[in-house]
Amino acid sequence: MSNFLPNELVKRLNEQEGFDAAAFNKVHEQGDKITSIRLNPWKQTSVPFKSAIPVAWCDKGYYLTERPVFTLDPLYHAGCYYVQEASSMCIAHILQELELENKAIRALDLCAAPGGKSTLLADYLGSESILVSNEVIKSRAHVLRDNIVRWGVSNVVVTNNDPSTFSRLPGYFDLLVVDAPCSGSGMFRKDEGAIDEWSLANVKLCSDRQKRILAESISTLATEGYLFYSTCSYSSEENEDILDWIKEEYGFESIPIRFPSQWGIAEIQSPKHQAFGYRFYPHKLKGEGFFIAVLRKTETQPSFSRKKIKSEKNSVPTKVLSDWTEQPANHMAFIHDEHIHIFPKKYEEDLRWYQQVLYIKQAGVNIGKWNGRELIPSHDLACSVHIKTDLSAQDVTREVALKYLRKESLAVTDFPAILTGWCLVRYDGTNLGWVKVLPNRVNNYYPKEVRIMHL
Ligand code: SAM
Repeated sequence: MSNFLPNELVKRLNEQEGFDAAAFNKVHEQGDKITSIRLNPWKQTSVPFKSAIPVAWCDKGYYLTERPVFTLDPLYHAGCYYVQEASSMCIAHILQELELENKAIRALDLCAAPGGKSTLLADYLGSESILVSNEVIKSRAHVLRDNIVRWGVSNVVVTNNDPSTFSRLPGYFDLLVVDAPCSGSGMFRKDEGAIDEWSLANVKLCSDRQKRILAESISTLATEGYLFYSTCSYSSEENEDILDWIKEEYGFESIPIRFPSQWGIAEIQSPKHQAFGYRFYPHKLKGEGFFIAVLRKTETQPSFSRKKIKSEKNSVPTKVLSDWTEQPANHMAFIHDEHIHIFPKKYEEDLRWYQQVLYIKQAGVNIGKWNGRELIPSHDLACSVHIKTDLSAQDVTREVALKYLRKESLAVTDFPAILTGWCLVRYDGTNLGWVKVLPNRVNNYYPKEVRIMHL
């Protein structure tokens, strides 16, 4: 495969001090495929596969020695883990180094689909933080929403906005993550098709777009707020040059991150302003090509007037929350399109600000449809870590779980402990979704949009 690596790319990498072109080519020639997952700490405490090796820079990340057919694993559908490329899990270590883990902050993941970094951020920032997870492309925002729903936490707001929209919330976020769309050279081992699409012209186009995304959104970051900028490109036009450009335009402070040398992550400094960045090369560590840098806003950023917005009268009976969710006092509830959503009470005011300026696809957890008298529980509630733990549930075998996830019909005998009514289908201790048990049949309520097809 090395013959096919773009000459221009390898030539430029060769200009970097200490770059080992032979080892870089060899690792691409071998074309090994690495599989890694990150556990959902609210749902899964141990690795549900036979042999797994920890990822050094993420204590919830594991390499799998064999790639399972994830589609046929009920725990995958239940959001017990996320299949994520290992290098990008380094954000866990960075959050720990910056002492942001479990610190209550407001974070924006600007280019978030399909949701790898957002689910990681949600885990490490913890339940006292709020995360706005944004994706500009509508179809991708949909996938992002599904992955956030599977993850099950209530302190994430999924939005579908152009980066420029966030300038309407100036000085608001404490952390801005820009995992920028890029030329993708770091993913050549995973996606050989990307090699054909690579060109210097596209690198330039990506670099211009990265600057535009940053320029249009950077005002949303508060004074002293952190910017994580990352790409899966090897090109300095998309990495070091962007850091120099940020320093020149906005005067940010560059933050070095301590990575133990045995992890094989290369620290670089940008040519003009010596800003720190970190390069992940597949011949030096077990992961794909990745670049990340941390910068901090030092200039005073004016903010918006945080005036109180009058709250609408809340017409959700408190009993609904206590009947269906744990710790109902932590959440406020609102009705949108006949559906009840729960959202952290602590960020109620913030949600109103978002509603003024953002296109919100999902805020908190949609717990179900409300007809004024009773709740018809939603699939999102079944996936949620906030669901009440003593609801009617039936543990099923893997075979029945897969039938359920294919939305096939199930037998009443599969639910021996249930008389009638709503029942959670549970596999290995984790909820998969709802069925309604009737005296002589079972209705499968798994959503058809996410059912397993063709397998
Ligand atoms: N952060 C994601 C994760 O960890 O799963 C991956 C993000 S991917 C590298 C970059 C994202 O930027 C894509 O979802 C893409 O749709 C989005 N994107 C493309 N053009 C964009 C633009 N002009 N502004 C903002 N985002 C854009």
